[in-house]
Amino acid sequence: MTDTETVETQENEFQSDNLQRFIFDDIPVRGEWVHLSQSWKQVLTRREYPSAIRNLLGQMMAAAALLTATVKIKGRLVLQIKSEGPVNLMMVECTSENTLRAFAQWEGDIAENASLLEVTGEGALAITIDVEGSKQPYQGIVGLDGESIAGLLETYFKQSEQLETRIWLSADENAASGLFLQQLPSKAEQKKHDNENWSRLTQLAATVKNTELLELGAGTLLHRLFNEEQCRLLSLTELSFACACSRERVADTINLLGQADAMALVEEQDKIEVACEFCNEHYYFDKIDVSHIFSTSLSQEPESKTLH
Ligand SMILES: [Zn+2]
Repeated sequence: MTDTETVETQENEFQSDNLQRFIFDDIPVRGEWVHLSQSWKQVLTRREYPSAIRNLLGQMMAAAALLTATVKIKGRLVLQIKSEGPVNLMMVECTSENTLRAFAQWEGDIAENASLLEVTGEGALAITIDVEGSKQPYQGIVGLDGESIAGLLETYFKQSEQLETRIWLSADENAASGLFLQQLPSKAEQKKHDNENWSRLTQLAATVKNTELLELGAGTLLHRLFNEEQCRLLSLTELSFACACSRERVADTINLLGQADAMALVEEQDKIEVACEFCNEHYYFDKIDVSHIFSTSLSQEPESKTLH
């Protein structure tokens, strides 16, 4: 294979905001490493989060990138926690264009070292895969009865995909990063041998420290963890922050309110103000803007948005 290079020969020229795929010679296991810094800081400049929420959101962002790389689709993957609170909603999206965005909503104070359950309360983590052009998105759900985001996702893979998966995630104010190993199906006669290999690889990976995830490049980290294994680096994917919101999309939402309600709202407040939760961009529509929305939509009534 000419497009691979062994971990040993790879210099640790550390480029963040990248996802690195890797494999092991003769072992049916796929691996991924992700490190986000600029894209993660773009999320943090838009809202100031208590550190416990920030770290969970960063872990979800790294996880969304890792999971998106395992599904070969054109569209988007969304990780969403809906819970009783203090955090009510956490949402991260990663698209097949390799863009990411994320936000969290919460109420009240949160202790610095609060656990996952203390931050969220009762609730669920949903994994949604929205394939472009398909009407029904795929959704998998796990209850929030684990100690970590990584643990919840491991449970999800075991239950829904029947694939042994181990995930390590870490985040702080500078970076969000993660490591992913997944056992791929074996031939029957290889099963025992492959399971032994899997167990050895995951034990080695489990020695990873948070500081190593946050501070090391893929080459150095993988060499440190798997120096006696034949680990090969595959393709590198660059990731960036981007938000898909636009004035047109907000206008579509106002259109759905109906002319009477939208005009009543703009009369009452002089303008309609809509802020994007993901990027904090504010959109303003005054009376003229709102009448314009309805004058242009008169000829084409919006489709019924009833959910079936
Ligand atoms: Zn936005």
